[in-house]
Amino acid sequence: MTQDSNVEKSGFETRAIHAGWEPDPTTGAVIPPIFATSTYKQDGVGGLRGGYEYSRSANPTRTALEETMAALEEGERGFAFASGLAAEDTVVRGLLDPGDHVVLPNDAYGGTHRLFDKVEQRWGVAHTPVALSDLAAVEAAIRPETKMVWVETPTNPLLGVADIEAIAQLAHAAGALLVVDNTFASPYLQQPLTLGADVVVHSTTKYVGGHSDVVGGAVVVRDLELAERVGYHQNAMGAVAGAFESWLTLRGLKTLAVRMERHCDNAERIVEFLEADSRVVEVLYPGLAGHRGHEVASRQMKRYGGMVSFRVAGGEEQALAVCGGAEVFTLAESLGGIESLIEHPGRMTHASVAGTELEVPADLVRLSVGIETVEDLVADLDRALG
Ligand SMILES: *Cc1c(COP(=O)(O)O)cnc(C)c1O
Repeated sequence: MTQDSNVEKSGFETRAIHAGWEPDPTTGAVIPPIFATSTYKQDGVGGLRGGYEYSRSANPTRTALEETMAALEEGERGFAFASGLAAEDTVVRGLLDPGDHVVLPNDAYGGTHRLFDKVEQRWGVAHTPVALSDLAAVEAAIRPETKMVWVETPTNPLLGVADIEAIAQLAHAAGALLVVDNTFASPYLQQPLTLGADVVVHSTTKYVGGHSDVVGGAVVVRDLELAERVGYHQNAMGAVAGAFESWLTLRGLKTLAVRMERHCDNAERIVEFLEADSRVVEVLYPGLAGHRGHEVASRQMKRYGGMVSFRVAGGEEQALAVCGGAEVFTLAESLGGIESLIEHPGRMTHASVAGTELEVPADLVRLSVGIETVEDLVADLDRALG
């Protein structure tokens, strides 16, 4: 389970496949087994083998996933959780105190907004929603009690882009930590720790797991003192990833690079089709030269990802018809899996923000572009657009 230093310095794909695990010395097992055990025999009191004592504190399958995530995000330590929200809660309550304040994206993932608004607030952590693309607004929202700035980029479902490097400078000047939710980009397309972020969080349910078959979360940090605090609270709060979930997530993570390349290829082809179609009035994709965040995205991302949103000429009625009419695209929430998904944010993922400043256009359709044959995806959208 030791990571040799050559692996750490190697390319992304090599790290995805070789970091975090060495063939088992006893059996030669090439892939980490699912260590379905809660406890570990001690060789005399306190004589732990490899530090393993009890599986909430550490489990070898989870360790393999955690070390691989750390290697891919170019961090020092990784931590795996039962869900993305469990990871977020551990970061917030592990690193902040009552009375602290957080600057939050005004278009944060709905579950993140709910966590801050309905849970963390009751524990004394206040927040201010702000448009992260407006650096002056971010600066203005920072107050003396601000101890954390939270970034999501690209955002959901409008694919807004935030400048991680610039916001890291603002946060650090104010003595606040910068947390980046890297779920949409995945570590393949963007490594926030190399741009100045202090903490990366993931819903590994999405691109990292990549097969829509497991729910999980992760945290990666560079600083060892921060790692100490996150690790302490991971154990103390206990929302850890189980061995089976860790194994499934790690299995997905090994092919992240090839999947992301295909997600991006297919998304680019679909964007090209939608841009040329008169039934579509606007296509939102950071890869488009006309997108507001294009220049920043080009600087901080390897490619532009598999998420595409578009607005249809026929208003909400047509948007709903497109969602209902697609056949290769499955009508469902979530994202980041091998299969293409389509949804109506206004009525589905973002229904809870209707009537607020976060309301999304009713004629908007969101795609999580999968890795199927792209001609089939284009033909499906062409048909569904009616
Ligand atoms: C899904 C998601 C989360 C929450 O993760 P869960 O695994 O569902 O708890 C957080 N952030 C983003 C950007 C997400 O898409």
